[in-house]
Amino acid sequence: MRAGPAATTPSRAPIAPPVASCGCLPASIRARIQRGVGAGFLSLLATACTSVNPYHDPAAPHRGPEGFRNNYPTPREGGYWRWQWERWRDGLPRPPANGYRFPMAEPEVAFLRANRSVTAVTWIGHATVLLQVGGLNILTDPHFGPRASPFSFAGPLRLTPPGLTPEQLPRIDAVVLSHNHYDHLDAESVARLAAQPGGPPRFYVPLGMRKWFNAQGITSVTELDWWESRELAGVRIHCVPVQHWSQRNLTDRNQALWGGWVIEHGAQRLFFSGDTGYSHDFMDIARRFGPFDFAAIPIGAYEPRWFMAPFHVNPAEAVQIHLDLDARYSLGIHWGAFELTDEPLDEPPVVLQQELARRGVAPDRFFVLRHGETWRIPAAPAR
Ligand SMILES: [Zn+2]
Ligand SMILES: [Zn+2]
Repeated sequence: MRAGPAATTPSRAPIAPPVASCGCLPASIRARIQRGVGAGFLSLLATACTSVNPYHDPAAPHRGPEGFRNNYPTPREGGYWRWQWERWRDGLPRPPANGYRFPMAEPEVAFLRANRSVTAVTWIGHATVLLQVGGLNILTDPHFGPRASPFSFAGPLRLTPPGLTPEQLPRIDAVVLSHNHYDHLDAESVARLAAQPGGPPRFYVPLGMRKWFNAQGITSVTELDWWESRELAGVRIHCVPVQHWSQRNLTDRNQALWGGWVIEHGAQRLFFSGDTGYSHDFMDIARRFGPFDFAAIPIGAYEPRWFMAPFHVNPAEAVQIHLDLDARYSLGIHWGAFELTDEPLDEPPVVLQQELARRGVAPDRFFVLRHGETWRIPAAPAR
């Protein structure tokens, strides 16, 4: 297996419990320890792994013999513990100027439940977005939980509540999952959706993720490779390549695929990226599906660049993706809820504004929403 971040260094993640309950340390130090330990869960570090990829296909370069791979080179190798040391030493991330109080919208619950005709987007928080298109309710990377972590007692805490509770959601027809990291695949949130009144939604997942759902007792799962698609009630759902990686435990690095999703209804094209570094994949996606009416693009979790750049875009790269996709409108996601990396939690939209101005993109074309806010996609001009 290709070595990943600090792949030769064993994880220290299990040391977390005493930290969570220790009252003898100053709160600021405790918070820094918790953040540092928590961040470790993001990179649960595999030691040498000799897995055989059951999805291996010599004709498909991303389906490697030992795991899945990106389409384009991802140069960084190692450095995880250097990052952890530097953020500890420098006291990063700094708290946001807003004191972790992000604006919340009053959710339009009645509209969302009744809506079958308006193409609308609701930002619930982080990478969780409700897409209403073609009469379907499609949820991306559902996470309503208190932590992005395998443990209930440690790991990155949710610092802003979800903009809608699971009880406020309309019945969900489909869920698209980008990858299995803990800030995107939350077991309790998935279980709640599977138990929704009226029956479970259909879960669309990249290759290798079905078995996780089956282990939870969930069988309404469609597993797709990059560029594969399925139709659901007149809406076509495509899995597409983005540049990232996967890991859920100590031994399964890149044993499941990651991906973005294109939602196609009539002439409408919507895109959800999940986590990604900047790559030529977006030009590939644009060539097949562009232009897009709407794109949900991550703008947060990007510092330090020397470590994050291959797998997490910054706002400048997010603007480039918006341009590559030829998106009429884009929404900045993956910020404001979990403090995963070194930039302040409120920084991404500020930098996004600067980058839009620098590139001459009107700010109403790439924006952020308040948690829980619904936005109707304006009708497309005639093509
Ligand atoms: Zn990720
Ligand atoms: Zn993420």
